[in-house]
Amino acid sequence: MKTVPVEIVTPERKVFSDDVQMVIARGGAGDLGILPGHTPLVTTLKISGVRIRLKDGSEQQVAVSGGFMEVKPDKITILAEAAELPEEIDVDRAQRARERAEARLAATGAENFDFRRAELSLQRAINRLQVAKGKELK
Ligand code: ATP
Repeated sequence: MKTVPVEIVTPERKVFSDDVQMVIARGGAGDLGILPGHTPLVTTLKISGVRIRLKDGSEQQVAVSGGFMEVKPDKITILAEAAELPEEIDVDRAQRARERAEARLAATGAENFDFRRAELSLQRAINRLQVAKGKELK
């Protein structure tokens, strides 16, 4: 079985590091499935759940709040603005963040700078809730 080392890091900490079978990530230009030996590439990442197929064949999700992914044939590195494993996600906090963002979106005009900020904050909250839920469903 072929594997490739993956590291997911944020400015604060190393979130994930292991040899894995495959990474599925949402790049700026679309979804990417990365297997060991992949051609080198660098891409932005959307706010999304990165799916990782572990050595034992099970799937690990990581909530990623934007950033970059660098792929080399023998190493995958994700530099994320923030990232959490499902069990690290505080669901109540994400729910509160979602409610705050929704209230701000309802109160501001679409041309307003705060609108984009609130939209991104809403995306982060929804992404965290989805990744946390994925864990519960397994
Ligand atoms: P909040 O408004 O709740 O702070 P946010 O989306 O603004 O949410 P970020 O700026 O993306 O938060 O992240 C700041 C730090 O807090 C990061 O280290 C991130 O991993 C962590 N974090 C944010 N939300 C959660 C959560 N719901 N559960 C666990 N960690 C979180």
